[in-house]
Amino acid sequence: DTITVQELANRMAERGADLVKSLFKMGMPVTINQSIDQDTAELLVEEFGHNITRVSDSDVEIDTAADVDASETLLPRPPVVTIMGHVDHGKTSLLDALRGTDVVAGEAGGITQHIGAYQVTVKSGEKITFLDTPGHEAFTEMRQRGANVTDIVILVVAADDGLKPQTIEAINHTRAAGVPMIVAINKIDKSGANAQKVREELLQHNVQVEAMSGDVQDVEVSALKKTGLDELVEKILLQAELLELKANPDRDAEGTVIEAKLDKGRGPVATVLVRRGTLRVGDIFVVGGESGKVRAMVNDKGQQIKEAGPSLPVEVLGLSGTPGAGDPLSVVENEARAREVAAYRQQLATDKRTTHAPANLESMFSALKEKQAIEYPLVVKADTQGSVEAIVGAINKISTADIRARVLHAGVGGITESDVQLASASRAPIIGFNVRANAKAREIATRDRVALKYYDVIYHLTDEIRAGMAGELGPEA
Ligand code: GDP
Repeated sequence: DTITVQELANRMAERGADLVKSLFKMGMPVTINQSIDQDTAELLVEEFGHNITRVSDSDVEIDTAADVDASETLLPRPPVVTIMGHVDHGKTSLLDALRGTDVVAGEAGGITQHIGAYQVTVKSGEKITFLDTPGHEAFTEMRQRGANVTDIVILVVAADDGLKPQTIEAINHTRAAGVPMIVAINKIDKSGANAQKVREELLQHNVQVEAMSGDVQDVEVSALKKTGLDELVEKILLQAELLELKANPDRDAEGTVIEAKLDKGRGPVATVLVRRGTLRVGDIFVVGGESGKVRAMVNDKGQQIKEAGPSLPVEVLGLSGTPGAGDPLSVVENEARAREVAAYRQQLATDKRTTHAPANLESMFSALKEKQAIEYPLVVKADTQGSVEAIVGAINKISTADIRARVLHAGVGGITESDVQLASASRAPIIGFNVRANAKAREIATRDRVALKYYDVIYHLTDEIRAGMAGELGPEA
């Protein structure tokens, strides 16, 4: 009995890329379309153990397989897309322009509501969901909380400005998450536009677009003049088709909070993106450490709706309190159960905060000793481009067959909040060479237990890694 990784991912309502990563960590380098055996599949299901029925330690008998949908229950679901790129390159304008491609918006007479995400129905009748908060901060914060909702990233680059620091950050955050990317070369209407230069710059950062014989799709657009949008939509749908995104719509709903707020008139309101199942008015649910009963649901067009299926974002009313972005929502059988699970989750969240394994060099060595870590993620910040290159080169050189240092992000400048978020989401330490973390970054690093290591001499850094390897692993390593 075998199953492909993607098929299993669909049945678990998880992202295929995340399963591939887990398998990689277990020492099984497979691709998304490869098959794995029953035992491995069970291991994965356990690893992702999202069986919320496990409310206490004595209650672990529950069959995790019940949490995995049968393949015949799976139906295609719309892709969830996030837009990233440098400030002023046109993320917001593109989100607005894409919203305008909706063919059903006008008919229903609704009024656009900004609920954190929206769904459009394009000419072909297919649907696409866009997360409305552009930028990699939101994207990485969600990931940090274990909520990988994005299927596809659109990287916006202004054709008259080229690659900028946040463009490069966005590329690295997208890579770290294992999410496929489509490049939208924007502002093509401007006189200084040079799309070819953008493609060449991308190549320098290992993003090889189709025109440069690579496999990353790119498209020239103007968010202002609304040109190239149909082509962009086509590419999104093509990418979605390759991903074979599916979910079981016919079960109790599970979703992820995109954003939540306390509304003066309506009480706590959360925008939930349904991942699988169908959420209905009257359903009892747990969301993060809160519980509730769906009193009403409102879509991005301001219309009240009775049910919401996979990939649809909806505002949910009827919560006991305000959950956090990234919190999971699960429908449960009754209110007693909802309260029980909510309390258990609150406890879990507290425990996690205090027992979270620190990401540091020591943990890398002990993981190595147990032959767990095949790949070791790092974030590098330095004072000059020359030092960045020297450090990355030095780190790559000390990688062995057992371990491969993977620099998630390397850049010039002080350590910022965004660096810490990226590091935290990937459990990576941050190396600062002749630079320090700013106050906000230090605060988050302490909270999330991200190790900050400062060096001013490169060989101190490489010596420390080597010494650690030798000491912890013995001469064999
Ligand atoms: P964001 O910071 O990435 O969200 O960028 P915005 O969407 O706010 O756009 C920044 C500026 O670029 C605004 O003044 C937009 O009007 C302008 N802009 C965005 N897209 C285009 C475009 O396709 N062509 C031109 N000429 N200007 C654009």
